[in-house]
Amino acid sequence: MMSFKEYIFGLIAFLIVVLVPSVAQASVTHVNMGEADQIDVHKDWEVAFNEGVRIVESSITDANIVVKDNEGNNVDIPDPYVKEDGRVIVVPAPEEGYKGGHTYKLYVGKTIAFESGKEMEDRYMKTFQTEWEILDPPSPGDDIVSYGTVTSDTLNIRQYPGEEADSVGSFKEGDRVDIYGFDGYWAKILYNGEPAYVHKTYMKLRAMTGGVLQDQIIIIDPGHGDGDPGATANGGQEKEINLDVSKRIHERLKEMGANSIMTREDDSFLALSERVEFADENFYDMFVSIHTNALPGSSANGTETFCHGGKASNQEEGCLLAEKIHEQIVAKTKINDRGVKVSTPGTWNDFHVIRNTTTPSVLVELGFLTHSADAEKLLSDHYRDLYADAVAEGIKNYYLAEIK
Ligand SMILES: [Zn+2]
Repeated sequence: MMSFKEYIFGLIAFLIVVLVPSVAQASVTHVNMGEADQIDVHKDWEVAFNEGVRIVESSITDANIVVKDNEGNNVDIPDPYVKEDGRVIVVPAPEEGYKGGHTYKLYVGKTIAFESGKEMEDRYMKTFQTEWEILDPPSPGDDIVSYGTVTSDTLNIRQYPGEEADSVGSFKEGDRVDIYGFDGYWAKILYNGEPAYVHKTYMKLRAMTGGVLQDQIIIIDPGHGDGDPGATANGGQEKEINLDVSKRIHERLKEMGANSIMTREDDSFLALSERVEFADENFYDMFVSIHTNALPGSSANGTETFCHGGKASNQEEGCLLAEKIHEQIVAKTKINDRGVKVSTPGTWNDFHVIRNTTTPSVLVELGFLTHSADAEKLLSDHYRDLYADAVAEGIKNYYLAEIK
């Protein structure tokens, strides 16, 4: 009942936006058409060539104007055509629109001909990511509060909220589910017209109103605390840096509509298991642990973000979250990029808080307190703001991204 195809995109106006003015002409060098996200699923792209150029329409084929999905399959689109002025090729969206929250590539091959006889010097490619498909707003009497996209292979539909309840059916990865309310971890849905329940941990949720972070229960976990200072070097203490940066992340997430909750709000100590239990008590949707690195007597420096490779659930989602946060930290703080790392069970990086959390979860190492240049950033008010901006932006980008 909730399959993708059932959602009709009917009344969305076509937004015709010029792709890139003057992308190509004979003897131009390569122009990067760049990337775009949050694209309307019904968008018709316009590929504009230079003023005065006239395209030979018959040279347009399904080989030189191609849209591919992220698995490399060609997308079935209506025939592209040349606009009246002769210099713009319109690439229509698929009849039923692109899939929401997916990445596509539009290729413009160099075999397009022009009346002047000139040739394109290079082919062009544009990557774009579509916005999640827009649901018709709930009609009066409808009480949909949220919708979810299933992130696990299968998701059991239960008669009552609880693992012990009979399963009455199942959804599969990518299915869209309308949600009428939450009871702890259980999302209330309608299945064959009857109330039923699914576990929300296996869906990426989005509220019907507000931005993508609206009502997301995000646990921000400042590592260490009290008698456990964590790393100590260059006049700083890890527990203080973690807490201060976490508070700043917390404020930003709240401003963006999220239900952000911190495992500790002061210089107190929680055991690792208590942090996970705390998240569980709050029926969390996401877990982000903030740490600061140290390696005394070495020149190690930079930031790294861990997701866990040995989790029972949401492993891929956790790594997608790690990617999104990490790329923002590197971009905003310009700190050395040590990459996203996948924790291996039984090794030094088998971190308890990301192994034992069922939701997407990550552990961020902001930088090395033992490295003087990193420490300068970690102890700077300005850079702490940049770190917080980066983590909040990364979380937002995770929610905007497609289901892997
Ligand atoms: Zn730490």
